[in-house]
Amino acid sequence: MNWNLKEILQPGAHVVVVGLGKSGVSAVRFLLNLGVKISVSEGGRQENLEGDLVRWLKEKRVFVETGGHTSELLTSANCILVSPGVPLDIAPLAAARQKGIPVVGELALAKDFLKGTLVAVTGTNGKSTVTTLIGDLLAGSGKKVFVGGNLGTPLAEYLAGPQECEVVVLEVSSFQLDSGGEFHPRVGVLLNITPDHLDRYASYEAYVESKMSLFKNQQPGDVAVVNGDDPVIAGWLGKESEKTSPWPLLGEIRQYSACETTGMAAFLSGTKVRIVAKGEPGKKTEEYELAGTPLDQAPNTENAMAAILAVRALGCSPADIQQSLAGFAPLPHRLALVDEINGISYYDDSKATNIGAVYSALGGMKQQVVLIAGGRGKGGGYEMLRPLVREKVRAMVLIGEAREEMARAFAETTRIAFAAEMDEAVRLASSMAEKGDAVLLSPACASFDMFRSYSHRGEVFAQAVSRLAGQEAR
Ligand code: ADP
Repeated sequence: MNWNLKEILQPGAHVVVVGLGKSGVSAVRFLLNLGVKISVSEGGRQENLEGDLVRWLKEKRVFVETGGHTSELLTSANCILVSPGVPLDIAPLAAARQKGIPVVGELALAKDFLKGTLVAVTGTNGKSTVTTLIGDLLAGSGKKVFVGGNLGTPLAEYLAGPQECEVVVLEVSSFQLDSGGEFHPRVGVLLNITPDHLDRYASYEAYVESKMSLFKNQQPGDVAVVNGDDPVIAGWLGKESEKTSPWPLLGEIRQYSACETTGMAAFLSGTKVRIVAKGEPGKKTEEYELAGTPLDQAPNTENAMAAILAVRALGCSPADIQQSLAGFAPLPHRLALVDEINGISYYDDSKATNIGAVYSALGGMKQQVVLIAGGRGKGGGYEMLRPLVREKVRAMVLIGEAREEMARAFAETTRIAFAAEMDEAVRLASSMAEKGDAVLLSPACASFDMFRSYSHRGEVFAQAVSRLAGQEAR
């Protein structure tokens, strides 16, 4: 359904914000500027809300319901702004939709409220890295840029402010796309699609369709940057050429690949990214050197290609891009080297919460690996990892709720041990590793069964490694 939200969100309209996380709070701030009547419906209990937040909502005359979402409140709205953490199929939202009430997420606000050029990045893995890199490359080219979305500051927070940036770069998740309405990036970047969040989607196909919907509303003149090596994306592009996809891809498709293949707009040649000149086969290709930059290893080589194609579409110059690539600061907990102890390297890849991320981490490792994995499973199975585990993983230490299931999945591919907590996992891993190996925390699972977040898990790992270093030094 296509809504004109500017017309709906007029003073006096009643808007219910569902979910009072970070993006819900930003949505309230955005709505306050519009003079609409605001209610909030939060699934968590009143006593878990911060006192300052409760006081602020009261002062702003926002009605708050906690401990669940009632159909009574939701069906009394003119519009519902739903947070990405809230499943769209819960009964009160279904009831509201049935009454014809728009149920949208913050991305849907972009069409009617966002000023500036919109770049959006999605994919199962690499979103934060590529979003940050695109922001850096644009800023390095002298553009005033906002970077946020699923990462850092929510879009609604930016929309609540003076909107002074020329380009807005958003990391977008599949949950956000599902409620994105007519969200329409001028440049959309799709990095990869591998199983994830299957605890929330009805099927893998539904998750794939959600990711592809990044391009659903693109028009001629827009650009779709996609990973040409990803079989799932290739399958979709095939459907597109046979006109069997659910919607046409109207933007210009710019594909990148780790190998030189016909039809690619960018590919890797040794340590260089080569950009193929559009429609001018004889013309000299552009080149970017990744050696000596923090992006010289897979999967960051792919991420660099995606980001370069995106910013070239926005007019950044090759010289500016090359300069900014060298200055990129990799994000923490993504394949970060923590320490080297007695010839064994310890890597924190705690952000690897699904099998695709672990696959790329193992694929990029030159040495044998002792893998620390496990946590809260996401319901997708681990089969895809078995061949790589057999080839690269000397031993595996499993933690968390998923450990029994993972042990069954990897039986006969490698040696397996269980640990109750991170210190024990690191100690066990170090005892199973040989000189020259890597101990890699790349869990393939969410962290919430044992830790507050993936970053907390990464920090606890780094502390355990540092304790181990202390013991070894004695
Ligand atoms: P996201 O925001 O999609 O979670 P991040 O940049 O935070 O992406 O990285 C998440 C995990 O995915 C990390 O373990 C990282 O090493 C890995 N990763 C980064 N880029 C890619 C990629 N292009 N393909 C596969 N895995 C990747």
